Amino acid sequence: MKYLFVTGGVVSSLGKGLAAAALGTLLEHRGLKVVLQKFDPYLNVDPGTMSPFQHGEVYVLDDGAETDLDLGHYERFTSCNLSKLNNLTSGQVYESVIRKERHGDYLGATVQVIPHVTDEIKGRIRQVTNEMPADVLITEIGGTTGDIEGLPFLEALRQFQDEVGSENVAFIHVTLVPFIKAAGELKTKPTQQSVAKLREIGIAPKIIVCRAEHPVEADVRHKLSMFCNVPRENVIQFLDVEHSIYEAPLKLHEENFDGIVCRALGLETPEPDLSDWRATVERIIHPTHHTRIAVVGKYIELQDAYKSIYESLTHAGAANDCRVEIEKIDAEEIERDGAEAHLAGMDGILIPGGFGERGIEGKIAAARYAREQGIPYFGLCLGMQIATIEFARHVCGLEKANSVEFDPDTPDPVICLLEEQRDVTDKGASMRLGTWETRLAEGSRARELYGKASVNERHRHRYEFNDAYKARFREAGLLVSGTSPDGTLAEIVEIPDHPFFLAVQFHPEFQSRPRQPHALFRGFVAASLEQGQRRQA
Ligand code: GLN
Repeated sequence: MKYLFVTGGVVSSLGKGLAAAALGTLLEHRGLKVVLQKFDPYLNVDPGTMSPFQHGEVYVLDDGAETDLDLGHYERFTSCNLSKLNNLTSGQVYESVIRKERHGDYLGATVQVIPHVTDEIKGRIRQVTNEMPADVLITEIGGTTGDIEGLPFLEALRQFQDEVGSENVAFIHVTLVPFIKAAGELKTKPTQQSVAKLREIGIAPKIIVCRAEHPVEADVRHKLSMFCNVPRENVIQFLDVEHSIYEAPLKLHEENFDGIVCRALGLETPEPDLSDWRATVERIIHPTHHTRIAVVGKYIELQDAYKSIYESLTHAGAANDCRVEIEKIDAEEIERDGAEAHLAGMDGILIPGGFGERGIEGKIAAARYAREQGIPYFGLCLGMQIATIEFARHVCGLEKANSVEFDPDTPDPVICLLEEQRDVTDKGASMRLGTWETRLAEGSRARELYGKASVNERHRHRYEFNDAYKARFREAGLLVSGTSPDGTLAEIVEIPDHPFFLAVQFHPEFQSRPRQPHALFRGFVAASLEQGQRRQA
């Protein structure tokens, strides 16, 4: 097995995760089996307890692990299916070390960062190597070189390289090469210094990936090669992609990134045939039609909070030969101005997952607008709970209907706490998480879109549809069209008498890939496209 370690230089938010994922795409196209993982130096055990404002989206895996959103890139760009092994945080490392210390496993030793913490980190790499065998393991180290909390990880990787032999390891440093306007040139000094930091701790990157806004010309590459002690051809550029992140593998291949990596690791592989990937990108960036879809949420100003949803809409757009223009609308603005002001002219309305009371009434108004105006509606997790509350209030006449999450004393708790959640007090990793089966009702829209009777989807919620209201909803026109296998948990609701009104308790956005768009997103975008055509007719 060969190991690639991807570090970041100069600033965060460089697109390191994207570079790692794109490299995964390229290596898979060279016929290699690839696994990706992320090390996050923060002390949270996982990002599940962090606010989206801190961290962006929490990406949920099949086994229920709540992970960094870069794992979303890894799954979308490769054929990997990742597990909780693939995201390691300092919090997990220390939790395990302290548990072992209390258990007496260290036999009287003084417990220290070196070797105990570093052993723990190396142990995880070995575990992934054993349990997820592959040709290449790509590990991205979160944060920026020079961060205090990143040091134990880098030290562990230095030791690891010694143990498995440097011919089996390559460090790739993804770094910012800033353009200074006044000088009219790209500057290499920050990168020189961040590579110097790595070399201080005994790590010599073999490849430098320059994130830059302008082409990195030969003289700049030459300088970087000299000062960072890497061969000239191993300094490559990674410019901002023009239209779509899915161009990244193509751009990096133009720089022979995959070729350099294979050479650095002594891997003999054929040149990749990227025609299928190129065709997918082509469909994404040059569609014939377009449609406008509103995403009504709470963390709208944040690029990353609904990352997988935006990506899934893009995939589904390409599948429908259409560009999805995403209008990001803050639910609180709907509360202020009314739904019509923000949603008139939209071809589809999507309400994503979320927690807490803020913006809830705005989302309910948006769902009502979609239902009453016949605009396609797609609710995800909280978006299903919102649709249910709205229907209860305005169709069934239960004016005070609510979720007990927002109003614990509501007379009509149409969304209530999951039975298994009643005694849960810890906030971390304690929701209903991960993949669960859903059985689909015959004749339902959900069944028609999926084209099968049973599906597995990923979950992350504490509250659920209250079955006591099921019959009443059915009579009024809201159908439960998907349930857990034992029939007790409602997983999907839909309004048959509507162009497209479908809401799910799970998160389909975690299973859409550019080459396998999710069936429900596809159906929703198709319905939105039709809605736009109807509107214009
Ligand atoms: N807050 C809701 C719940 O816990 C919805 C969760 C979500 O949208 N992920 O059930």
